[in-house]
Amino acid sequence: MDSINQVVSGWSRSWVLVGHTIVCGACMASQAASDANLPFAHAHGCREGQSDIKYPWYELDRISHLVVSRSNVLHLPSRHGKGKLGRSPV
Ligand SMILES: [Zn+2]
Repeated sequence: MDSINQVVSGWSRSWVLVGHTIVCGACMASQAASDANLPFAHAHGCREGQSDIKYPWYELDRISHLVVSRSNVLHLPSRHGKGKLGRSPV
C-alpha cells in the first residue's frame, strides 16, 4: 500500500490548487470549488481525461481525511483563540 505521502504526491502530479480552483496539470483546465459536484471538464485530448478521477475535489477531500486520520494528534486553535481541538487517530 502506498504511504500517505505517495498518495498525496500522486494527486499533485495531476492537479494543482490555484486560489479557489483545481487546475489539471496537463491541459490547464480548471474547476472552481463551487463546481466540485460536477465532473471535471478537461480540454479535448487531455491524457488526464482518461483518469479514474472525475471529481478531483472529492478526491482531495478523501486524501485529506486519510492524512488527518493517520496523524497522531492534531492541535488546532479554536476560532476564538482559546483551547485546542484534540483529535485521536482513527
Ligand atoms: Zn486535463
